[in-house]
Amino acid sequence: MLDTDFFRHWMTATAAAMDREADRLTELDAAIGDADHGNNMRRGFAAVDDVLEKETPETPGAVLTLTGRCLISTVGGASGPLYGTLLRRTGKALGEAREVTREQLAEALGAGLAAVAQLGGAKAGDKTMLDALLPAVDGLSASFGQAREAAREGALATVPLRAHKGRASYLGERSIGHQDPGAASAALLVEALAEAAGTGDGS
Ligand code: ADP
Ligand code: MG
Repeated sequence: MLDTDFFRHWMTATAAAMDREADRLTELDAAIGDADHGNNMRRGFAAVDDVLEKETPETPGAVLTLTGRCLISTVGGASGPLYGTLLRRTGKALGEAREVTREQLAEALGAGLAAVAQLGGAKAGDKTMLDALLPAVDGLSASFGQAREAAREGALATVPLRAHKGRASYLGERSIGHQDPGAASAALLVEALAEAAGTGDGS
């Protein structure tokens, strides 16, 4: 079972990964966006680290809703409201339970992804964070390790795609040949989840 500490660990591991990989995320965004994605993620998750220290949410759902609210209020770019909605909606779907199963988390993330799709209007193959997250949540039904692999593959598979949503879509065909920054950061979120579960490979 996954308890509140597990979810806190997931969020702090995500914050560490966003901080470590911020330059790479910004480079990806420099190619097909406005070069702020690494800073957006670093700033947003640093604020999450702070708020999780100050407030002590008592359920897995409360950890995620607090994180989501924090991202929405601290990140200006498109990614703030989208990641914020993902985590807030996922947290809401987990309800008041003190412990949840991996399968329950996968189902709740499915609800979170539906909310992201509704907010941003993107679908699979549009070259967004969803291209890493949708396969990851499918993989999570099997194991944390499969979720991680599916997220990594999904992020890499955005390279040949043409962007249909967000800033990168303004480039039309010129968005082809670059990895989507939001899909890359989404893979970090899923890698941190596997790390929290003790199946991270440290790479
Ligand atoms: P901004 O585009 O406002 O500068 P960021 O650079 O922080 O914001 O985030 C860009 C990422 O947000 C993209 O790489 C993409 O993955 C994601 N994104 C943008 N628009 C959408 C959307 N409508 N639906 C899903 N994800 C999106
Ligand atoms: Mg940007």
